[in-house]
Amino acid sequence: TGALSEPEQGIVVVRHGANLAVEDARGAVHHCLARRNIGHPVCGDRVVWQRIDTGDGVVTAVQPRITVLSRPDYSGRDKPLAANLTRLVVLIAPEPEPGGYLIDQYLVAAELMGIPALLVANKMDLLDARGESEFQERFQHYPAIGYPILWTSLRRPETLPPLIAALSGETSILVGQSGVGKSSLVKLLLPDREVQIGRLSAATGLGRHTTSAATCYRLPSGGSLVDSPGVRSFRLGGLERDALERGFREFGPYRGECRYRDCRHDQEPGCALRAAAERGEISAVRLASFHQLALECARAQS
Ligand code: GDP
Ligand code: ZN
Repeated sequence: TGALSEPEQGIVVVRHGANLAVEDARGAVHHCLARRNIGHPVCGDRVVWQRIDTGDGVVTAVQPRITVLSRPDYSGRDKPLAANLTRLVVLIAPEPEPGGYLIDQYLVAAELMGIPALLVANKMDLLDARGESEFQERFQHYPAIGYPILWTSLRRPETLPPLIAALSGETSILVGQSGVGKSSLVKLLLPDREVQIGRLSAATGLGRHTTSAATCYRLPSGGSLVDSPGVRSFRLGGLERDALERGFREFGPYRGECRYRDCRHDQEPGCALRAAAERGEISAVRLASFHQLALECARAQS
């Protein structure tokens, strides 16, 4: 190895094995390797790096992460996928029909990461006026607990500026079930995606397949979108019951109020959550999602 230049700040754009693409303060991308003792930097990590005289760089430190998105690996252990996200966007559509607790699963992930989530109901052009108000009605309990909903259609460009504004300046990921319009929307948000991929691949010499890993793309309006097939379809691992409860933010005021400390909020007498649902203070649909997710989590852990 050659002489090292002064330490600089950078952001990891994508990682491929030991190879990192690091963006410097001017927006230029450099191929870097990470020092062995600094852990595993991932997309979105803020790092300190130094140039070596070959033109490449070496990452010498990873700054503490503000948030981290993890996914269980084949052995069930959580592995970081992306760092320092500030927004989670959950895309739904009238078609395919939003399935059961999938939305709530993503919202739990956002709560546990500590980042705001935004719902985007896309493909609204598929509904007539009546279908539209019915669909909107079905999801009104989300804004009521602090998750805004935007109603969009890629066939109606005038519906898109609020979404673009919501992403601007943030580091977001876009998730949702297959068919809701994620690829179409990413194409629209990142008109120069292919150019960015080409630039990354030229800088790192790693080839265009590098971006099958979580990759940080620059949005034209500022901010970035972290994307990859794995990011779009990430799922919660097997959570402890306590973590799952914390993932339902509106349950907060009722937690610890049940008669039994280990209440499952199911058939137990004196359940504060069920009582709140009966009074209409929390949504019965959300409570049902909680029960389904609790089952899923128990299964994932056994
Ligand atoms: P993904 O699986 O979530 O990535 O969804 P795609 O982007 O592949 O979109 C699935 C299908 O929905 C494609 O045929 C798109 O053309 C279509 N689509 C995407 N957005 C809209 C929309 O706003 N309105 C309508 N009618 N179709 C859309
Ligand atoms: Zn209870």
